[in-house]
Amino acid sequence: MSWEDGVRRVVPYVPGEQPKRADIIKLNTNECPYPPAPGVRRVLDEMDYGEFRLYPDPDSGVLVKALAGYYGVSEKQVFVGVGSDDVLAMAFLTFFNTGKPILFPDITYSFYDVWADLFRIPFEQIPLDEDFKIRTEDYLGRDCGGIVIANPNAPTGVALPLSEIERIVSANRDVVVIVDEAYVDFGGESALPLLKKYDNLLVVQTFSKSRAMAGMRIGYAFGREKLIGYLLDCRFSFNSYPMNRPALAAGVAALEDKAYFQEICGKIIKTRDRVEEALRELGFFFADSSTNFVFASHREVPAKEIFEMLKDKGIYARYFAKPRIDNYLRITIGTDVEMARLLEVLREYLGGRC
Ligand SMILES: *Cc1c(COP(=O)(O)O)cnc(C)c1O
Repeated sequence: MSWEDGVRRVVPYVPGEQPKRADIIKLNTNECPYPPAPGVRRVLDEMDYGEFRLYPDPDSGVLVKALAGYYGVSEKQVFVGVGSDDVLAMAFLTFFNTGKPILFPDITYSFYDVWADLFRIPFEQIPLDEDFKIRTEDYLGRDCGGIVIANPNAPTGVALPLSEIERIVSANRDVVVIVDEAYVDFGGESALPLLKKYDNLLVVQTFSKSRAMAGMRIGYAFGREKLIGYLLDCRFSFNSYPMNRPALAAGVAALEDKAYFQEICGKIIKTRDRVEEALRELGFFFADSSTNFVFASHREVPAKEIFEMLKDKGIYARYFAKPRIDNYLRITIGTDVEMARLLEVLREYLGGRC
């Protein structure tokens, strides 16, 4: 017998690289290339550091109130966490306890199977179709422990229409369906309006992508009051003060500037649509993206080769050495200047190759 027999062993999630060099073009973890709303800087400048002596509000009241106001729900329908990773982990722990397998796609956010393993939740990965689309039928009439759908999906960038999400939620009233909307602001349809009809739905979003605040770690979720109540019970059995003071203040300030938020999302969408066209001209193929990244494969040159070539040139993209997707590159949409440089490097390399 050794102490190691008592260890909870897991294979951890591997996040994208966060290189220390400042001179690179970072297109590997879907961060926003623009700064947060100007109001965020203002509230952080004005913070009284003496307040850090005191614990923050355990209910994250100011942020919950601001989110409820912004999205038109009651405060009791809002849950916040340290990034949506924290929210999702807490939701897995809270809702998936029947011993039946939970369902999610084979190609999706690669944290889902890690949390399932961590919490000893059995799971089944349902293959996407050849076009990397979710087949709704696969999620109907299954005797399962719950369902998790990223919509738009990552790393594919493909969105499922709200009517299809509703079919999945309505066919699975006896389990919780989590819809992870990390990228919804770039062209997806939120499932939030479905809360009026369904009590088994949790809609999860984040400040990390569309609100340019990955470094602040703010995620949130919407659900019916009873469902959120269970989530809060588990949260308060784990950590009473998840959100720190700067994050609470910065989150509220970001929500107050709707015009800025819409402006940066609009800019990213415009850049994306232009980059998609240019990439297709260079011989890449991919489904239209509803996110702030493109998941692309080249007709002739292996993705891994392009990935390494780009890295040599100081441009970081994301490559997954996994079945079905090992010939794809996930490229975050940066500024117009960054994307021009990417396209220039690709043109140079591929022009010489094909
Ligand atoms: C980025 C991402 C998240 C987590 O983001 P946080 O920074 O923890 O809010 C969750 N789901 C998907 C699909 C993502 O891409």
